[in-house]
Amino acid sequence: MHKIHADFYTSPPTYKHYVDKLMELKNEFPFVQLFSIGQSVLGRQIFALSIGNMKQVTLMAGAFHAQEWLTTTLLVRYLERVCLAVREKSKICGTSLNQSLSQKGLLFVPMVNPDGVCIALEGAESAGKYAPFVTQIQLSSQRSWQANVRGVDLNHNYDAGFRQLREIEIQSGITGPSPRQYGGQYPHSEPETMAMVRLCLRHNISTAYAFHSQGEEIFYEYGENPPAKGYYMAKLLSHVSGYTLVKNDGLYSHGGFKDYFIERFDRPGFTIEIGKGENPLPITDLEDIYERLLESMVIMSVL
Ligand SMILES: [Zn+2]
Repeated sequence: MHKIHADFYTSPPTYKHYVDKLMELKNEFPFVQLFSIGQSVLGRQIFALSIGNMKQVTLMAGAFHAQEWLTTTLLVRYLERVCLAVREKSKICGTSLNQSLSQKGLLFVPMVNPDGVCIALEGAESAGKYAPFVTQIQLSSQRSWQANVRGVDLNHNYDAGFRQLREIEIQSGITGPSPRQYGGQYPHSEPETMAMVRLCLRHNISTAYAFHSQGEEIFYEYGENPPAKGYYMAKLLSHVSGYTLVKNDGLYSHGGFKDYFIERFDRPGFTIEIGKGENPLPITDLEDIYERLLESMVIMSVL
């Protein structure tokens, strides 16, 4: 009997709602592993879920940015679909994942920035002892919150062109904690960043996908010599999803997770910008985005 509540897919993923959903999935599908990869600044667990052979995995991670919580819902939606297919030995988009999962598993981190998502959904009051700090930053900037609770943009905090990115930040007038685009005092200064770095060092991740919103775009390059395989994978994903392939403009992309992953491991890494509109994309956009990306996510899972 399938007892999973559908309402996770019809309202934004507050942290409690999210954790309840992960517990449900673990109980419903015993072959799913649920574990914490670290804690946020405010001590919230950063959860990962895995399925299949962990000797080699594909990583899918979302909600690096607070307003982009729809990526969390999308990844959980896809994970649940995979779980049903595995249990029923059925196909998704004509593909049986059971065989490929026995060779290469899937690793999900649906919410990299739980404190940020809480601020986005519940306001500064959710920031505990950081509430006055968050309120103060919000008063000095009109921009909506994308950072972690310390005002560090996690996708500027990775050790990939950090100094170049810092110069770009300063030119843009960002010199300290901010709702977005401040990279922190040094690379990997934030526990949410370190949790992802440790995850990458501990597991044999063949490909990494960082989900963001919005723009219906796929980014796949970093540095002078990005892995050639990444270009062809991106081309295929672009063809199947209709999302636009974006070449690096050489200047602006530094410090992001996919940048770090490509440079550090010399393996394909991607940023997938889901949906179109203004962040936060409404939860009612979920089903259209999911339908549009489902086959691409199957391809990501088997390649
Ligand atoms: Zn983003």
